[in-house]
Amino acid sequence: FAEVSVLGVDFIQASAAEFLEQIHHDSCEHQNKMIVTANPEIVLTARADAKYAKIVAQADYTTADGIGIIKGSQILGHSLPERITGYDTMLALLSWAEKKHKKVFLLGAKPEVIKTAVSKVQEQYPKLEICGFQDGYYTDEEQVAQQIKAAQPDFVFAALGFPKQEYFIAAHRQVAAAIWMGVGGSFDVLAG
Ligand code: UDP
Repeated sequence: FAEVSVLGVDFIQASAAEFLEQIHHDSCEHQNKMIVTANPEIVLTARADAKYAKIVAQADYTTADGIGIIKGSQILGHSLPERITGYDTMLALLSWAEKKHKKVFLLGAKPEVIKTAVSKVQEQYPKLEICGFQDGYYTDEEQVAQQIKAAQPDFVFAALGFPKQEYFIAAHRQVAAAIWMGVGGSFDVLAG
């Protein structure tokens, strides 16, 4: 994809449909990819914090998760076509993973929230294989990485909030040839 820089972050110039098609392709090829769906908070944090900016820059795909970013791109004269949010992307990928027999790992949120989120996902995508899950209040990060390594998921959805989820993904993404995506508060939304 062509990329458009808004406030120092490079966004992919793609519709949600084009983006999903690319991820399906990457997943079928067992590629290791990192997705950041960047909202204005993430963009502003990256601007203020060089260490975080470097981590965000490691993403293979950064999408615009906020109307302000779309508007900004228009003002700069390189329009991004539409928002691509973490929550919607996650639901679309869960549905695709169910159809294609891909395994997913859910990481993050409070222990009771992740449990409810897992039940909701199982209810909504009954044939989907959830190969593992873990709440986001662990003490041993390395052990969580090893758990993901053992599970060998095709998708890892990390709902640790930012910037924790981006740091986790950047540090541990080599343990599995998966699509790794930060999904912020999405498990709380799923759990209701
Ligand atoms: N979270 C987590 N571990 C942490 C901090 C946060 O799993 O150490 C989870 C939190 O329970 C929530 C999600 O990350 O489900 C998003 O948190 P928050 O609303 O603080 O961040 P944001 O949505 O702004 O990224």
